[in-house]
Amino acid sequence: MIYLNNKLVPKGKAMVSVYDHGFLYGDGIYETLRVYDGVVFKLSEHIERLLNSASMIGLEVPKSPAAIKGAVYKTLSANKHKDAVVRITVSRGAGPLGLDPGLCPKPTFIIMTHAFKPYPRRSYQKGLSIAIVNTKRNYGKALNPQIKSLNFLNNILAKIEAKEMDVQEAIMLNYRGYIAEGTVSNIFFVRDSTLCTPSLKVGILGGITRSIILALARKNGIRLKEGQFKPVDLYEAQEVFISNTTMEVMPVHEINSRIISDTPGQITKKLRQDYNRAVRECIKGVKK
Ligand code: PLP
Repeated sequence: MIYLNNKLVPKGKAMVSVYDHGFLYGDGIYETLRVYDGVVFKLSEHIERLLNSASMIGLEVPKSPAAIKGAVYKTLSANKHKDAVVRITVSRGAGPLGLDPGLCPKPTFIIMTHAFKPYPRRSYQKGLSIAIVNTKRNYGKALNPQIKSLNFLNNILAKIEAKEMDVQEAIMLNYRGYIAEGTVSNIFFVRDSTLCTPSLKVGILGGITRSIILALARKNGIRLKEGQFKPVDLYEAQEVFISNTTMEVMPVHEINSRIISDTPGQITKKLRQDYNRAVRECIKGVKK
């Protein structure tokens, strides 16, 4: 079942107008969330980011945070999903052709859930192959990467390059040549016992997983540097990992055919364990 506007609709009947500006112009926003044992992880944070994306494009989300929470759980329960992925999409809605958002009186609100398909265990044991690609992360003053928008062509172009290079994630540099982020992930690396990650100022999405990892690193007294880094910093790293809501902390084995390590390093392993513990504690806390 799909939650479409205000009701649950069978998947085959969940239709959106061809005039929806989300379809016509990529005019809309979304969130991807992870569900563990029936509990949506960091639901409030994802809703906050959704509302923030909406406000940055002048879109009014037609539901309160409490109503969104209720609708997410209603959809999960209708689909009997316990370990799942949730996607919330809000588009500008249907209206005549033309860019003016004022042409669309009613946003389209959609919640989809599907069963979580775990990443291969081997990926966590060995790490992914990734590559820095030619496609640059879009300039923040043209389209702010903090807006988690339906307009994903920048990332899709990078993904096409990754596929051509036979790697699992593409890392984009910003327009000044500093490391930005992956197509669907943030990036971290360890150099001289310091955990490094591009700062938000580079022009990246503030990943919710990224902020949890930063908090865990601080808690562990791991030396931390958020800043501007060049590809050479990554190539010379002792450890590299990427992060997002569904893959959590994912080690990286090689970048542009340069081997980083054959097994995840100490800091990567520690943060992955701590992240998984934080998930378990959060789920336990919610279930109490
Ligand atoms: N960067 C980009 C471009 C993304 O699309 C995503 C997630 O989809 C992330 C980073 C990671 O964000 P989060 O940790 O909130 O899933």
